[in-house]
Amino acid sequence: MEARHLEITSQTGLLGVLGHPVGHSLSPRMHNAALRAQGVDMIYVAFDVPPERLTYAVEGLRALGIKGANITVPHKERVVNLLDSVDPLAARIGAVNTVVNDNGRLCGHNTDVAGFLSALRSVKPDGARGLRCLVAGAGGAARAIVAALSEDEAAEIWVHNRTSRRAQTLCDSAAAWGRSLCKAVADNDLGARVQAADLLVNATSVGLAASVKESAFPVDIVDSHHVVMDVVYGPRPTALVAAARARGAVALDGREMLIMQAAISYRLWTGLQPPIETMRKSLDIEER
Ligand code: NAP
Repeated sequence: MEARHLEITSQTGLLGVLGHPVGHSLSPRMHNAALRAQGVDMIYVAFDVPPERLTYAVEGLRALGIKGANITVPHKERVVNLLDSVDPLAARIGAVNTVVNDNGRLCGHNTDVAGFLSALRSVKPDGARGLRCLVAGAGGAARAIVAALSEDEAAEIWVHNRTSRRAQTLCDSAAAWGRSLCKAVADNDLGARVQAADLLVNATSVGLAASVKESAFPVDIVDSHHVVMDVVYGPRPTALVAAARARGAVALDGREMLIMQAAISYRLWTGLQPPIETMRKSLDIEER
């Protein structure tokens, strides 16, 4: 699809992402590519909002008539109580990553859940139904992923986290989300759970920058019966994805989830079918 040049005028609508830090965000690149490709008179920018300014920033969305926003680390949970309404899924998991400004009324959604499931289906067409799933991490991404696995009727969800108390808290919440059994995994049980699981998900930031050679799982016991999903995206393939593929597993990094959650947000703001290939290509440019 050919990008059109758009002039910024007094009619141009504004979209953005609220996070802290936010300078590394790939969202402006993806959304602006999509808006240009479809000739939508909006632009998307990044707002670095420290936690103590979040309330003012959300009020600013209303005051300035900003059409919509993504919400990212560390604001996804706190923003819930600052909005006029929150859709049932986002309310259930207590995290919002997308806000739609409907004539001054701010409505929260969570597109990470559907974004993860869509990415999973790209490598496992039947999704998580009936699978035993091990999730590493208990932060915002893990919360959305456990909710997604539960929505998709995974048979069991096991959660391992560096801080074990947070894994238990996540499982306590997940007990109300669906029919999947959710259990926290102790450090000394991790190896056995890796072997017993069908789907392994790294939902920690391990694999980013300084920890790029580390893994949240003992990768040496991954084998060809596993599907491995890494939420981390960055230099490709991530260390986990490379190691898992070398051991015969099907493995996917966080790029597809990132694209799909963005595509769903875009549809909420514009009402248009998102140009997913254009969004995907905008990230390839980033890697050159
Ligand atoms: P978060 O809420 O800050 O949670 C971070 C998680 O990583 C916690 O479970 C934390 O454990 C764990 N962790 C951090 N450093 C660790 C280490 N050295 N060893 C073991 N565990 C460690 O962050 P988040 O929002 O969940 O994001 C997590 C990752 O997912 C980030 O890399 C983010 O970029 C990525 N993400 C990707 C997508 C996507 O679309 N692909 C979407 C959302 C997030 P403790 O509880 O012990 O601190």
